[in-house]
Amino acid sequence: MDAKQFISVILPLRLSWTPYYYATVPVERGMRVRVRFSGKEYVGVVREVGVRPETDVARILPILSVEALSPVTEGELRLWDFVASYYLCTLGEVYKAAYPVLRIEKEESALRTQQRREARLEEALRKREAKMERLRERRAAKEVLRDKARKAEKRAEYEAAIAAIDAELERLSQAAAEPDAPAAGKRLETRLSPAQQIAKNEIDKYLLSKKVVLLNGITGSGKTEVYLALAREQLQQGKSVLYLVPEIALSRQLEDRLRAHLGETLLTFHSGETEAHRRDVAQALSKGPYVVLGTRSALFLPHRNLGLVIVDEEHDASYKQDSPAPRYQGRDTAVMLASIHGARTVLGSATPSMESLYNCRTGLFAQVFLRERYYEGGEADVEIIDTIAERRKRGMVGSLSRRLIAHIRETLDAGEQVILLRGRRSYAPMVQCEACGDIPHCPHCNVALSYHKSAGRMVCHYCGFSAPFTGTCGKCGGALQPLGAGTQRIEEEVAALFPEAGVGRLDSDTPPAQVAALIRSFSEGRTRILVGTQMVSKGFDFEGLTLVAILAADTLLGQQDFRADERAVQLLEQFRGRCGRRGKKGLFVIQTARPSHPVYARFRGEDPSPDQFLEERSQFGYPPFSRLVTLILKDTSEARLDHLASALALHLCTAFGIRPSLLADPSARVSLTGPYKPAMDRVADRHIRHIRIVLKRDKNLSHNKEQILTLINTFEREKAWSGHVAIDVDPL
Ligand code: ADP
Ligand code: ZN
Repeated sequence: MDAKQFISVILPLRLSWTPYYYATVPVERGMRVRVRFSGKEYVGVVREVGVRPETDVARILPILSVEALSPVTEGELRLWDFVASYYLCTLGEVYKAAYPVLRIEKEESALRTQQRREARLEEALRKREAKMERLRERRAAKEVLRDKARKAEKRAEYEAAIAAIDAELERLSQAAAEPDAPAAGKRLETRLSPAQQIAKNEIDKYLLSKKVVLLNGITGSGKTEVYLALAREQLQQGKSVLYLVPEIALSRQLEDRLRAHLGETLLTFHSGETEAHRRDVAQALSKGPYVVLGTRSALFLPHRNLGLVIVDEEHDASYKQDSPAPRYQGRDTAVMLASIHGARTVLGSATPSMESLYNCRTGLFAQVFLRERYYEGGEADVEIIDTIAERRKRGMVGSLSRRLIAHIRETLDAGEQVILLRGRRSYAPMVQCEACGDIPHCPHCNVALSYHKSAGRMVCHYCGFSAPFTGTCGKCGGALQPLGAGTQRIEEEVAALFPEAGVGRLDSDTPPAQVAALIRSFSEGRTRILVGTQMVSKGFDFEGLTLVAILAADTLLGQQDFRADERAVQLLEQFRGRCGRRGKKGLFVIQTARPSHPVYARFRGEDPSPDQFLEERSQFGYPPFSRLVTLILKDTSEARLDHLASALALHLCTAFGIRPSLLADPSARVSLTGPYKPAMDRVADRHIRHIRIVLKRDKNLSHNKEQILTLINTFEREKAWSGHVAIDVDPL
C-alpha cells in the first residue's frame, strides 16, 4: 500500500482555515485536486504537502483525484497569501476570484483567434474609408465657412485648414490599411518626443534603483507612448508586461492602438472572460513574452517572466473591488505582484491618487512629470456657466444653457464633435406626484425609483427592482412628473435641438453589444454628439472632438465623503483631456449651480497646490496618513442589526481598550466610530450599518488588523451571526 501523504487544500469557500486531506499518489503544491467537503465535491488547490495535522488523523479524508489542469504557480500562491492577509479575507475567496467558474464553452480558440484577426483587418480598412469620408465632409464645411468669412485673415485661416485636410487625404489614400492595423509582421513604430524621451530616461533611472515610478503626465502628453517604449524593451529582453487599465469596455480604442504597435504579442484579459480564454492566455504566457492588456482580474493570471507592470489611470476608483471579497485594490496588488516577480512597476495618471502622492513623499515611489502635450495647442479653454444666474436671465433651455447651445452649434458648423456628460443615467432620477408630492421609492431599498422612459419603467439602480410606469401616483391617483434630467432626457432634448447631428447615448443602460458600434460611429463622425455618464470621461481619443461639457456638475460634489471633491477634480480633469487632442483648441464647459466651489478652482484659472488635498488629509489624519478598515454589517432585521452592530463595536473597543468616538482620532493606535447608517442604509431588503476603524500606520498595523479579523470571527461564531460582517480594508 502506498504511504499516506497529508496535504492542506484551498477550497473555493469562505473558510478561515485550510482543511486536510491525504493522497496516496504523489502530489505537489499548486496541483488542483478534487475533494469532498461537507458532502459536496470541489476542485481545490494543494497548499502544503507533508503536513502534520493536529486533528484526529483517522478522520481525514482521501482526495478523490488529481485534476488534469495546470497547477497554480508559486507566484500565484504567494500573491493569494498577500491578498488574503492584507485584505483580511480567506484564501478560498481569493482562489474563487482568481479562478472563477464560468460557463464552459467549446474549445475553438484557434479558430477564434483567426476570426478575430480577419475581423480586425476588415475593420481597419473600413475605418480608413470612414476617416476619409469624414475628412471630405469637414473639408466641405470649411469651404462654406471660408466663403462666408468677411475678413481676409479668416479666409486665409480656413484656406490653410483645407490644405491640411487635403494633405491628410493624400496620405491616407497612399497608405495601406495603416495606421490602425499593421499588415502581418509589420508594426507601427513611434519616436518619442523630446519631453517623452526625458521622462522615459528618468523612469529608466528610477526603475534601475527598483523604485516604483509614478508617471504624472497631463492628459494628451502621450503617456501611452512612454508605456509602449518601456514595454517594447521588456519584450526585447524576453520579458512579459502586464498593462492594467481600469475598465476594458472603453479601452477598445487603446487595444486597437496597442495592437498596431505590438501585433500578436498583445493579449487581452478582463473580468468575465470565459475559462477557455483564460486557458489560452495562460498557455500563451507560458511560452513567450507578451503584453497582457487587462483589468484588475488580470493580476491573477499565471504570470511568468514578468518584467514590468503598468497601471494606467492609477487613481481610478474601479481598480478597487468593493464586492464580493477579496475587496482588493488592483493598484496596490499590482505593486505586490511586481515585487513577487522581481518586476518593475510604473503607475500613470494626470491626477494621481493621494496614496501614490503620499508614497512619493515618503520616498517609496519616485515621481516623474510630463507637463507638455504631445500635440501643440495646450489644454482646452474652460468656461464655467452659472446655471442659477442663467435661469434668472432666462438663459436656460431645459438642461442646457443658451450659451452652451451656441457653442454646440458652432462646433457642429465647423464639422467637429461634442460630448455631454451627465452623472445620472435614466430619463429622470426620480418622479414626483404633482398632487400630493409623493416620490415613489424602491420597496426593497431606501432610494427613489428612477424613470426609464424608453422601457416605460421605474427602476431601482441599487437592486434592479423595476415596475411599469403608469404615470399616476399610487397614493392619490395624481399625475407623476419627472424630476430632474438623466442622460436619456438630455439625449431627447439635444436631439430636438440638433435634429441633424446624430445623437448617441452611452451609459450602463447601453447594451454591451451596442457600445462598440456607438464608439465606432462617433469616431467615424456619423454620430456628432455623444451624451453619457462618467463612462465618457475616460480613455477616449477622438480626433474630431473639440467641445466637452458637463451638465449639473454639482452632483459630483457634496457627498459626505472626504474623497468626493478629489474625485470630482480627477473626473473633471480627465474629461477636459478628452477634447482638442490633435492640436486643435478645445473647449470645456462646466454648467454648475455653485461656480465658486473650491473644486472648480483650477478650472477658474486659479492654481491650487497639487498637494492641496493631501494637506487636508494630513491635517485630519485621514488615509493615507492612517489606515482605514470599514466593517459593513447587513441584516434583514433592523432591530437585530442595531443590537449586534452595537455589540460588535463594544466587543472591539473592549479588546483594544478604547471607547467608540464620534470622530476618529488619528493619533491613537486604534480608534473606532460607529455603528452608523451609511447614506444608503437599505439595499435589497437588507439594512446596513457601518463601523469605521482607523489604525495608525506603525509597526503594529498588521498585527492590529489580524486582531480585528480574529475578534470578528469569534463574535460571529458566538452570536451565530456569520456571513453578516464584511471587512473592507482601504475602502474607497
Ligand atoms: P495620455 O494617455 O497621456 O492622455 P496619449 O498617449 O493618449 O496621451 O497621447 C495623446 C495623443 O498624442 C494621441 O493621439 C497619441 O497618438 C499622440 N502621441 C503621443 N505621443 C506620440 C508620439 N511619440 N508619436 C506619435 N503620436 C504621439
Ligand atoms: Zn431597490
